[in-house]
Formats: sequence, structure tokens, C-alpha cells
Amino acid sequence: MMGLFIDVEIKPQSCEAGCRACIEVCPVDIFAMNGDQVVSLEENEDECTLCDLCLERCPVDIITINKLYATA
Ligand code: SF4
Ligand code: SF4
Repeated sequence: MMGLFIDVEIKPQSCEAGCRACIEVCPVDIFAMNGDQVVSLEENEDECTLCDLCLERCPVDIITINKLYATA
């Protein structure tokens, strides 16, 4: 299940090799490694502060922050 209010989405296929920028920058630990794949921890997604640091730091622009409460 995704977060009730915020869904952090990462396109699965195209992380830059060796990049851990989102993991390092997120203040509320939404990102983690799962093998060699970066994943978002759904149980933490509603903690997102909308700081946009992950979006600014991702070199390949594959992170999307979906504001579920604003999409009605
Ligand atoms: S916007 Fe900020 S708090 Fe939200 S996932 Fe990105 S780095 Fe983490
Ligand atoms: S910042 Fe982007 S490229 Fe880097 S690990 Fe996170 S999702 Fe992958």
C-alpha cells in the first residue's frame, strides 16, 4: 500500500550507477537500497516534507512525488 497522502515513485530501470543521492539527502529516510535497486519505503512516504531535495539531487530525474490529497 502506498502512503495515504504522498506517494514517492521511482522509475525502476534507470538509476545512475553507484548513485545514492536520494538516500543520503532525504531527511526522513524514505529511500533505501534493495539489492542494487533503490526503493521507497511506503510506510515512510507520508513523512515526506516536500523539501524537493531528492528531486534536485537525482541526476536522471526518475523520482516523482505524487500528492494524493491534491489530486481529487
Ligand atoms: S521531497 Fe524531501 S522528504 Fe520527500 S522524499 Fe524527497 S528528500 Fe525525502
Ligand atoms: S538520486 Fe536518482 S539516480 Fe540516484 S539513487 Fe536516487 S533515484 Fe537513483
